Amino acid sequence: MSAVVLEAQGVSKAFAKDRQQVDALHGIDLSIHQGEFVAITGPSGSGKSSLLYLLGGLDRPSSGDIRIMGQSTPPMRDRELARIRLRSIGFIFQFHFLMPELTALQNVLVPQMVAGVPKREAEQRAKELLDEVELGHRLEHRPNELSGGEQQRVAIARALANRPALLLGDEPTGNLDTRTGETIYQLLRRRNQTTGQTIVLVTHNPELARHADRIIEVVDGRVRA
Ligand code: ADP
Ligand code: MG
Repeated sequence: MSAVVLEAQGVSKAFAKDRQQVDALHGIDLSIHQGEFVAITGPSGSGKSSLLYLLGGLDRPSSGDIRIMGQSTPPMRDRELARIRLRSIGFIFQFHFLMPELTALQNVLVPQMVAGVPKREAEQRAKELLDEVELGHRLEHRPNELSGGEQQRVAIARALANRPALLLGDEPTGNLDTRTGETIYQLLRRRNQTTGQTIVLVTHNPELARHADRIIEVVDGRVRA
């Protein structure tokens, strides 16, 4: 069996809301191995996003342990956690969060500049990734000159720019029509198969979840066995 890249042990998450406590996750245990393509599904409000953000180091658990590539996040300083995110994790969200004034190519350069990749190498990588998501002919287009599916494909290329070990997505096709969503899942599936990239996607769409190797179902803040 390949290495465990993400692990949750006895993870709970509570939020304070209007002086009340919202218990979003209760005692989550799970492991995700290198090279897996996992879908996290469940009804709205069940805790899918909260779980993904903990697994991606965007948030910390109220109790329990999260390990990213073997490193436990609760004791980490913010800076250390940010470094792990930059190096090891690519995120895609329901909204693409591309920079509107930058071209597709420039958007894919941004995270590489932050990581200190030399400009020529960064451009080369950006072009290869945009080719891979079938946008080699749209390098100079700005987000508002692209369709919703194309914008999301640029966001995927950007998420992959620093060659993260993990690609995490929170309803990345939630704003797209079914056919476009399907195309994006196929593209990610292909990448998973050819490069062995570990991919974890939250979706409430069972049609999309069936592309995954494994489905983790979250109901009322618990993983359904
Ligand atoms: P899902 O992604 O499955 O729709 P979420 O993880 O977003 O579910 O939310 C799970 C529960 O936690 C919900 O009851 C939600 O209202 C609550 N919640 C999520 N984030 C916050 C927050 N930042 N502050 C307060 N409550 C939150
Ligand atoms: Mg959500």
